Amino acid sequence: MDFVQEIHPGVFLLDTNHFGQPGLGGAYIIHAEEVALVDTGASLAKERILLGLKALGIERTKVKWIFLTHVHLDHAGGAGAVISALPNATVVVHPRGAKHLVDPSKLVASTKSATGERFRFYGEAFPIPEERICTGTDGEVFPLGSLKVLAIDSPGHAPHHLCFFIPEHGLLFTGDALGLYIKGRLLPTTVPPSFDLVAWLATLERLASLKPQKLLFAHFGPGEPKLIEEYRALLLAWVERVRRHQEKPEEEAISAVLSELRREGWPVGPGVSGDWAMSVRGVLQYLHRKEASG
Ligand SMILES: [Zn+2]
Repeated sequence: MDFVQEIHPGVFLLDTNHFGQPGLGGAYIIHAEEVALVDTGASLAKERILLGLKALGIERTKVKWIFLTHVHLDHAGGAGAVISALPNATVVVHPRGAKHLVDPSKLVASTKSATGERFRFYGEAFPIPEERICTGTDGEVFPLGSLKVLAIDSPGHAPHHLCFFIPEHGLLFTGDALGLYIKGRLLPTTVPPSFDLVAWLATLERLASLKPQKLLFAHFGPGEPKLIEEYRALLLAWVERVRRHQEKPEEEAISAVLSELRREGWPVGPGVSGDWAMSVRGVLQYLHRKEASG
């Protein structure tokens, strides 16, 4: 089972093979008296999740919660597929994300237009019946037997983002709230349509105040708590970098930023240039929105 690893006693990282590659996207399995998933990956990850549970000897009926950090399809697209195989599971999602799980059509359309050729890696997003969704508000506790898991409101990447925190072990499931952490490198993920710098900076303070001992990135794997401060610096520098090009037409601004990144040695291969372009677009839209609102 090379795609599941125990990263803390009873907590497993399952590689969802995002975009057909290892090390890019993950879901977590919390195996306490009861069991939870944190994110599911896209729906093509369903078989892996079921295989992973089986390999760990976990009965499907024991899965109580599917914690979704947010509804972007690389995190939640598989929830509708996987929940049909987990009869006792309830999805936990931010109140602002719930309607997109009940009717994923808008989400699918916007992902399609944003990801182009790579959309084929997402698979179909199935609707989730309303009665199997529970909205999670800030500080709310979701128990797994005696183990407490807290939902933490964490807007910035998206207004409907939650992190999940296990105080007893100092584990913070970060979703996209601390950007990406790929091969030891932090990368911004400031995507349209709702990236919000001010909200994000407040979120980073809040996450630091929890004093987590380990950060568990969806993209990808565990990281040290000092990365919260590093991400703050990265985010500010990134917005500043895009701001210098904000008067240009969008496509020109994107290629200007991409060539800067290339010159500075950032990972800007053909596989990831689309992600960078999306992150530039998200910042441009944020800056224009701020200007428009005075
Ligand atoms: Zn996201």
